Amino acid sequence: MVQDSDSIAKGSLRWSIAFGAALLLLAIAATAWFGIYQSSQLRAIDQEQSFYKDLIQCRVALAALDDRLGRPGLSAADSSDIEARLVLERARFAESGRREAIRKGGSLAAWLDEGRWGRATVSRESIGLMVIELDTMIAASTKKLSDSGNSIVAALHLFMVFNGALLLTIVLFAGRLMLSNYRHLLLPLNQLAHRLTLLNRNIPESIHETAEATATFLTDPAPSADLRSVTESVADLCRDIEEKNKKLDELYIRDEKTNLYNYRHFKEHLIIDVERAKRFGDCISLAMIDIDHFKRYNDAYGHIAGDRVLERIAAIIREECRGTDIPSRFGGEEFAILFPKTDREMSFEIAERLRQIIEAEPFDHEHRQPEGQLTVSIGLATWPEDATDWYSLINNADSALYKAKEEGRNRVVSFNPESAVRQEAG
Ligand code: GH3
Ligand code: MG
Ligand code: MG
Repeated sequence: MVQDSDSIAKGSLRWSIAFGAALLLLAIAATAWFGIYQSSQLRAIDQEQSFYKDLIQCRVALAALDDRLGRPGLSAADSSDIEARLVLERARFAESGRREAIRKGGSLAAWLDEGRWGRATVSRESIGLMVIELDTMIAASTKKLSDSGNSIVAALHLFMVFNGALLLTIVLFAGRLMLSNYRHLLLPLNQLAHRLTLLNRNIPESIHETAEATATFLTDPAPSADLRSVTESVADLCRDIEEKNKKLDELYIRDEKTNLYNYRHFKEHLIIDVERAKRFGDCISLAMIDIDHFKRYNDAYGHIAGDRVLERIAAIIREECRGTDIPSRFGGEEFAILFPKTDREMSFEIAERLRQIIEAEPFDHEHRQPEGQLTVSIGLATWPEDATDWYSLINNADSALYKAKEEGRNRVVSFNPESAVRQEAG
């Protein structure tokens, strides 16, 4: 999916570059064509205008000669002068008519090649005929000039329309590019910034949401490759923080040596569970466990060996507890287990089974313990019959433990309210 989106982005970039280059080439080609066409037309107009001027001059000169020929009493000198001028005009006309550009025109070249002017006699009729032919040529030249001007204007219009269309295409293309930029870069960036703002405001609550939301907008709308890499980094960071937060939460409630719950967590649970039991009329039991003659064991084999015993007993406690129980290290070599919704008999049964398992467990060097075995004593108290609050529940379980030690250790003793009253009274 990510690869698809990447290749789409790359493909669209390549396509954009190719399209932009094609538009640029088209603009250059159109401008070059217009420039070449315009200059060739202007050159043709220039030549045509010069030819037109020659025709007009010739036409004026012929009109003057015609006028002189028409005057009464024309002398022989005048007549030969008129003939000489006529020859000159013929030569001038022929000369201008022989220009390369004019000859390409066709009809004039043919007319000159016929040599009709050269053969014509000097008379008003022949001049008149020449004038008529000149007028025709002047009219043709005028039309040619006007056509050339018109075709330049038409080319200019075509060029302007083409440029307009090109401009429109560029605007539409740029708009599309900007829209795609907005969808693939600006919009996701804005969403990311929004998520990060929320994250800053309330880190623990929003970190999971940010990780999920970031992963979601990685696909919709598909962001650019660069933005995706930023987004993925943010998502990874969020996931990393989330994982570390979970570990921190665990560290906060676990005892390092035994991996049972620590006293802080135990106490929080105890207070909440007693309150809940009060409200719903449930029972709740608490076991306080102490290793027998543990100081002796430590003194004889060292604290490292003592720690191994602590760890093993903690593991047995964990294995024997139900999912709803709260097995904890109360402190030192004392453990506490909270049994929610468990009455005195049931808690006694569980505690007794636990005691037996620990008694049967082979610990290193345990044969040197006073009874030849490493054992525990357990004191029990149950709410509501043995306590009025969480504090007295601990105290009374502790009293029962004291009693178990007093009666010879390696046993389970449930709290007895009557003996407690006696003790308090004593
Ligand atoms: P009893 O409870 O049977 O009356 O005798 P005891 O020798 O066990 O007496 P007590 O409960 O007072 O002894 C506590 C001993 O537990 C003292 C100390 O050496 C040991 N202890 C407490 N915390 C630790 C610990 O984290 N590691 C080790 N190895 N020993 C600990
Ligand atoms: Mg102790
Ligand atoms: Mg002890």
